[in-house]
Amino acid sequence: LKNNYDVIIIGSGGAGLTSAIQAYELGLSPVILEKMDKLGGNTTRASSGMNAAETFVQLNHKIVDSFQDFYDETFIGGGKQNNPELLKFFTEHGALAIDWLAQHGIELDDLTITGGMKTMRTHRPSSLAPIGGYLVTELLKLVNKYQIPLFDNIKVDQLLMKDDQIVGVKASANQEIKIHAKAVILATGGFGAGKDLLAKYRKDLTTLKTTNQPGATGDGIKLAQNVGAKLVDMDQVQVHPTVQQDTPHAFLIGEAVRGEGAILVNNEGRRFVNELDTRKNVTQAIDDLGGTGAYLILDTSIRQRVKAIEFYDHVGLVENGKDLTELAEKTNLNPENLQATVEKWNKAVEANKDSEFNRSTGMERTISQGPFFAIHIAPAVHYTMGGVAINRDTQVLNTDNQVIKGLFAAGEVVGGLHGNNRIGGNSIAETVVFGRQAGQQVFKYLK
Ligand code: ADP
Repeated sequence: LKNNYDVIIIGSGGAGLTSAIQAYELGLSPVILEKMDKLGGNTTRASSGMNAAETFVQLNHKIVDSFQDFYDETFIGGGKQNNPELLKFFTEHGALAIDWLAQHGIELDDLTITGGMKTMRTHRPSSLAPIGGYLVTELLKLVNKYQIPLFDNIKVDQLLMKDDQIVGVKASANQEIKIHAKAVILATGGFGAGKDLLAKYRKDLTTLKTTNQPGATGDGIKLAQNVGAKLVDMDQVQVHPTVQQDTPHAFLIGEAVRGEGAILVNNEGRRFVNELDTRKNVTQAIDDLGGTGAYLILDTSIRQRVKAIEFYDHVGLVENGKDLTELAEKTNLNPENLQATVEKWNKAVEANKDSEFNRSTGMERTISQGPFFAIHIAPAVHYTMGGVAINRDTQVLNTDNQVIKGLFAAGEVVGGLHGNNRIGGNSIAETVVFGRQAGQQVFKYLK
């Protein structure tokens, strides 16, 4: 570890790794500091994919999409509370981010769909593996190839300022250290595992479990606030509807399971919601069941479209039955109801019309190929939409909306992009789109 770099990047998730690679390729000398001993942050846990419109991958699949549709669907899904400037930049740069990844050998050639979207624009690896682990592994290969210095177990405790400009950070490893740089990128993620911030902004959610890694404690938000940054949307916390939490660890069951055709049933074996409505609305519908949670129901053809289910099964989260009656018995669901529900759903799929709940996506396949599977789920804290305010150049703004010189932020630490509900697949996209932008804007700032 030297005591001087061009730019210090705090956090080793998707945003931190991408911004470091971009800064390096522009000729800067970056350093990445990570407080945990595990690299990759919450990004490693991301499952569904990366949203982008007008990509070459979509065209390969004969899907004609538009920036405007991507914008409109995200805006509606976010309760029209999204920051328009950030959302415009985001929706118009996703395709470039997909190109950039492909140029670096990171291929996201398959497509799926998530709640609130009308088009297949969630890009994922053709292995159908969860995106997060794949992306972090591949980005780390580039970091290694370029020999970008990356240190784990170093926690940044303070941003150092001189004459209103960033000049470095104070951090703790075995001892306290000072590292100097004219620019810092906050890529510290959210506060889904930060009990103090949750208690401050959303006391009602502190009893829920979380899908987040233990280091997601909102440090970047506090670091930025201490140098005058403005915070936005801090009370907007996403509770993910489908989290298996009957074991001590909470496992997110990715939206692709529904995107590929699974349905949700209540403990009577009946559907109760459009499963691909937004996370906010599906969570509300499950909460309205009165605390029982719900079951995802799927068949073998759907299971084959989502690699992660093998893992969920391996760790004991999946019930299976050779037919629906056996599945119902194992899960204590009413067998007649479950049978009737699935029959009715299969008819809706064949007619491509769900008159019961108006679902219109994730209807490519019926639930008919045994064995059949069920996963018990309930909502858990997943993502914090609020965070530091930035402009489209990823510069952090103070409470007077002025730029804090030398301070940049990208990824979940930022607030405003997602409004009151983040669409599945937009988080990974955000880390790559704004991670690249941060690397580029730091270069411009230092020039
Ligand atoms: P994003 O998706 O926005 O990239 P992630 O959650 O994937 O966010 O990654 C954020 C990373 O930042 C995590 O690995 C987290 O442990 C790390 N981090 C958070 N606070 C600090 C800090 N004070 N010092 C160093 N690293 C930090």
